Formats: sequence, C-alpha cells, structure tokens
Amino acid sequence: MKRVLVIEDEVKIARFIQLELKHEGYDVDIVHDGREGFEMATTNNYDVIVLDVMLPSLNGMEVLRRIRSVSDVSVIMLSAKSNVTDKVMGLDIGADDYIGKPFYIEELLARIRVCIKRKENTVKKEEVSTCLKLGKLLIDDKKYIASYDDCILELTKKEFDLLRYLVINKGIVVTRDDILKNIWGYEYFGDTNVVDVYIRYLRNKIDNRFNIKLINTVRGVGYKVENE
Ligand code: CA
Repeated sequence: MKRVLVIEDEVKIARFIQLELKHEGYDVDIVHDGREGFEMATTNNYDVIVLDVMLPSLNGMEVLRRIRSVSDVSVIMLSAKSNVTDKVMGLDIGADDYIGKPFYIEELLARIRVCIKRKENTVKKEEVSTCLKLGKLLIDDKKYIASYDDCILELTKKEFDLLRYLVINKGIVVTRDDILKNIWGYEYFGDTNVVDVYIRYLRNKIDNRFNIKLINTVRGVGYKVENE
C-alpha cells in the first residue's frame, strides 16, 4: 500500500484529503504543524508528501528545504495563494509539483499518481542500468555500451556479445565450442575459426589499445578473461 503524509494545518481540508486518499486505497497520515510534519516525513517512509505552504511553527518552504536536505521523497506543495513566487520558490527548493488552493480533489489524486509513477520509473531505470564490471572494464547490458577506463569501445554486436560472455565467465576457461554455441548458435558448430577471428578483433580493440592483458589464451582449451 502506498503511503501518503498530509501536512496541512486546516483540519477540515486535511481530513477531507485523508478520507479521499483512503478511499483510493492509500495509507494516509495527517499532521497539522510544520515541525511535526518534518519529523513525520523523515522518520517514516512515505511515497508522497502533500505539504501546505502556510503552516504554524515551521512554514512549508522551510519544511521542504529540510526534507530535501535528507530525502528525495516526492513532495506536492499546496498553497492558498495562487502566487507565482510561491510556486517558483517551491519548485526551486525541490517540490515535485504544486497545486493552488482551491483545487479539485481529482487533480490532487492525479498528481499523486504521477509522482508515484515517476518514482517507480526512476527506480526501474536504476535497476536495469546495472553494469557488468571487471577492473576498469564496464559493460552496460541495456545500453549495449562497453567502456574501458571511461573510454567507449567501438564494438560490433558480435564483439559486444563475445566480450560480455567472456566477462560473465571471468576467471573461468571457456572453450571455443562454448563460445560458438552461446554467441553464434548451433549452426556454426565446429567452425571455431570464427571465434579466434573475433577474439583477435577484441584484443585489438582492448588489449592492444590499452596495453593490457585481458583476454588470455588457454592453450588447447579456449579463452579466459581476468582482471589484469
Ligand atoms: Ca495552511
């Protein structure tokens, strides 16, 4: 269940938002004061925080500033004023969105959904851009980019696949047949020359270029990559 914190001193509005959000299936906490709101925001894990600007004890801008110094939780600001300065200031400090009062509850609900979606997409992107790493060699599976010591390697698709396969099996000797089967498929079975040719291409582009010994020949067996 997604958790929302509503920091709003007008009790009726806070209660109304809480009921509507609960109805939509959110778990909702409300708090009526800035200082307390900041404490709640930083001691619990919320998916979205709805933050009013005019608050007692600590105003919304200050609450946002303090939240941003410790967290990148999604924050939607609310303001009674249809005040451009407020809006700009809120966004500058790092609000994800801003709604002027009065607002339709449907609009707030839509913006909360957008915030949650955006955060989920960011998390997904971070997950998929995990790289294979071997010393200074980086292989980004999803972007199809390989680099050594921050220099992009200009590899063809087959070279990339071959390098990736070797790095996944780092420290292990892979036979020419293993490589053929996995990179070229069964139709090439027995034609191991193609492997030697591509190993040579890779060595030219990596070992020779950076003067390292990454791809090692294991005589009579196959190849092995190891951290130099
Ligand atoms: Ca207020």
